Amino acid sequence: MCAQHQLQLLLFLAGLSLTKSYSVVVIGGGWAGYSASSTLASSSGADVEVTVLEASPRNSGGGLAGGWRTASGRPVEAGIHGFWREYQNTFRVMRDEIGLDLDDVLSDFTPSVLFSKNGRVATAPVLATSTRKGSKSSKSSNPILSSISGSLPPPLDTALLADFDEKRLNLQDRISAVGLLSGWADFGQEDPDSWDRYDKISAEEFFLDYGGVTPNLYAELVSPMLHVLPMGPGSDISAAAALSCFHVFALQTRGAFDVRWAKGSLSDLIFDPWRVKLEEKGVRVEGGKRVNGIERAEDGDGMVVTAEDGSEYTADAVILAVGGTSAAKLKEGSKALKEAEGAKRVEDLRGVTCVATRIWLEPAPSPTTGLGGGAYSSTTLPKAVARAMGESPIAVVGAGVLLPELEETGFCIYDLQRMHAEQHMAEDTACLEVDMYRADGIVDMSDDEIVELALRAVSSALKIDPLQVKVVDKAIVRARNAVSHFNIGSAAASPGIKWGRNVYACGDYIDRQGHASWSTEKAVVTGKQAAERVAKDLGLKGVKARVIPAAPDTPQLSNLRRLAKSIRRVSGAQRLPVPVPWTIGKWIGKGARP
Ligand SMILES: Cc1cc2nc3c(=O)[nH]c(=O)nc-3n(C[C@H](O)[C@H](O)[C@H](O)COP(=O)(O)OP(=O)(O)OC[C@H]3O[C@@H](n4cnc5c(N)ncnc54)[C@H](O)[C@@H]3O)c2cc1C
Repeated sequence: MCAQHQLQLLLFLAGLSLTKSYSVVVIGGGWAGYSASSTLASSSGADVEVTVLEASPRNSGGGLAGGWRTASGRPVEAGIHGFWREYQNTFRVMRDEIGLDLDDVLSDFTPSVLFSKNGRVATAPVLATSTRKGSKSSKSSNPILSSISGSLPPPLDTALLADFDEKRLNLQDRISAVGLLSGWADFGQEDPDSWDRYDKISAEEFFLDYGGVTPNLYAELVSPMLHVLPMGPGSDISAAAALSCFHVFALQTRGAFDVRWAKGSLSDLIFDPWRVKLEEKGVRVEGGKRVNGIERAEDGDGMVVTAEDGSEYTADAVILAVGGTSAAKLKEGSKALKEAEGAKRVEDLRGVTCVATRIWLEPAPSPTTGLGGGAYSSTTLPKAVARAMGESPIAVVGAGVLLPELEETGFCIYDLQRMHAEQHMAEDTACLEVDMYRADGIVDMSDDEIVELALRAVSSALKIDPLQVKVVDKAIVRARNAVSHFNIGSAAASPGIKWGRNVYACGDYIDRQGHASWSTEKAVVTGKQAAERVAKDLGLKGVKARVIPAAPDTPQLSNLRRLAKSIRRVSGAQRLPVPVPWTIGKWIGKGARP
């Protein structure tokens, strides 16, 4: 035995090791923070100690997707969260890292119904019949739809097979959507030049002035989608964000628009078991630790993180997994973050305010049965609501339903009795959730005022008589400026994974070009990427992000991209999108050249 091995054996027997031990502090316990911690904890040597510091005292995991129980024991969350078909990394985390059976925690793919302020616009059917590895396969309940969808390339399957209301969108409106193909093909999801080009103009300007969609298609279809996906009006969302978001959530593959929903609260089903797994791997998860200081250690080697309660943590690396606006607040008081080159525009990031309203109602005297779309087919919500939501327990509603309160606010209505096992079993209540996005005009109202407004919004959106209901219980969650806002210029302000020496970040606002994904999936992907980067810099062994790349372009999209490139070359356009031919009159009228 050589001297070094003898020394190692002696140290081992004495409980010591030659391997240098590192510590990493992850700030924030949402999808991003847990993904980063889980990835780091997979280090093959026991050479890294991971601590998660989460501000929330009530629940120490989940972030915006987390929840808790009311005094009466009812579950509450900061909004209902869906899982789109292409959330490949998220599904893998659930399966491989938490050990869940996806069918136990998630519903089958579920259709949803889109409403504008004028009424029902369309039902998005469940389209895919086969999937990439990982998500569950599903068929449309209509055999004719299923067979036609098999022969149409995406996104035509979604566009043509969705059940549009002719009163809302006529043939001309629908044909004008072809103009969107030009921008969609021209915009490279992971191409920095594209992000730069399309980050400078609003989605509204792009769709109407460059894409040439009819004002009616914009108002009835595009605008409501923008109000609930990137959560804002087209005038305040960048064209880049809109194109990326629509690609990821709807257009990229057959059935990309299909969504699975949790069968209960994400805390109960996902984050509680995930936390147990993390702790089994040696990760320390501490709730009630709002971090208010991140500085370099005095010896300049490593970081010191302090929480509001005075506790202090030293670390070789810090990963901020707190969301963009919280990161900006932390930067205000941190010399180390102010000096970090990669964080120099973090203060320009903005947030969207959401209000999630859960209302338990006295049940209708008899249930309405035979309802479509949900995990369960009956409800005791008022008959008029049940019938108006007969196709799906999910109604997606654009802005302007109630003026002036909801002028800029889109919302989703969920019949939780048809989605969540616990609510389905509750015999003494029906349960309605109304999640409002860009809810600045509402967030300061009292709980009672918000409930009253939400019930009026439901009847107004569904075009039914005002609801005469008895509210048994309620829970309002206010998330102020908490959701990443993808306004004009936001991509230019989005930081990357590494901000400076020892400082890293992850979350859904990070690095818009790095991986074509959004929301939960983006948080998971960047969490893994940040962990891998930390491991590389510290020399930790065996830490692999194993990020599943976004879906490759379909052959149809590849062809369109080639065409778009040629048009861009021929037109000589550099800095802006190329307008579709039928908008030229508009440009001449404006006396402008794109
Ligand atoms: C109403 C609503 C509906 C949504 N619907 C969907 C959906 O259907 N599908 C989907 O994919 N996504 C949806 N999202 C978005 C999704 O929730 C986010 O993309 C995701 O939660 C981002 O995860 P994250 O870990 O990056 O950040 P967060 O979830 O924001 O987590 C950040 C964590 O950091 C903590 N923190 C902040 N500051 C500090 C500090 N100083 N010290 C310690 N801890 C701190 C916070 O308490 C929080 O727990 C929705 C969001 C909302 C609000």
